[in-house]
Amino acid sequence: MIDVKNLSKSFGDHLVLDDITESIQVGEKVVIIGPSGSGKSTFLRCLNLLETPTKGTITFNGTEITDPKAKIDQIRQQMGMVFQHFNLFPNMTIRKNITLAPVRTKLLTQAEADDTATTLLRRVGLEDKADSYPAQLSGGQKQRIAIVRALMMKPKMMLFDEPTSALDPISTLKIEELMETLKKKYTVVIVTHNMQQAARVSDDTAFFLVGEVVEKNATSEIFARPKDKRTEDYITGRFG
Ligand code: ADP
Ligand code: MG
Repeated sequence: MIDVKNLSKSFGDHLVLDDITESIQVGEKVVIIGPSGSGKSTFLRCLNLLETPTKGTITFNGTEITDPKAKIDQIRQQMGMVFQHFNLFPNMTIRKNITLAPVRTKLLTQAEADDTATTLLRRVGLEDKADSYPAQLSGGQKQRIAIVRALMMKPKMMLFDEPTSALDPISTLKIEELMETLKKKYTVVIVTHNMQQAARVSDDTAFFLVGEVVEKNATSEIFARPKDKRTEDYITGRFG
């Protein structure tokens, strides 16, 4: 689904990602772990071009999205992105927050978007919050709304950047349950600091990333038998 070739990203003279070549298959569940500042968010943001890579190419479903002629908006809407801090518009109702993008991009009419919103809100148990504002919701509820907002665009893939870092344990479990159901339908990439979550949510592949992919393996392998000393130190430190 995604082919990353020789991806590098610098901010000024600070090289954050150094020559990453990786691919993600359709239906794969990938977890990205690594210390703070190691470029995990930058990598995820490069995947949907919220950051422009300094070097290298990214191909999504056969289209080279790093090509300057690529239709970025169309491509981006196929990748739902969920952030640690939800990024909802505080001055808009929940319904407006989640129907804004599909209506503005003409993916759906307002009536269709309202219908879809009602269905999805019901699915996450928040149908009674449609006319509330973000500030009236708990963190866990806001994150469920942020996930609904991403799903409204009918994405092919879901990218999660530390989706539960700002949440209490109960809300975290609820978001993990929701991700569990999404896994059946979408290709999923999740960045997390939470090792239990990494082991639980991603069945397939784990990347350990520190500016480069230090180690990539089946999730169970990377946790049970890390090959690189840096991975081992990180994982045992986090679990221990
Ligand atoms: P992680 O998500 O693994 O914690 P990030 O991808 O957020 O790491 O950041 C990697 C490095 O890139 C950090 O040193 C960070 O300060 C730097 N960085 C990230 N975004 C920017 C930016 N927009 N401008 C300058 N430096 C940035
Ligand atoms: Mg980050």
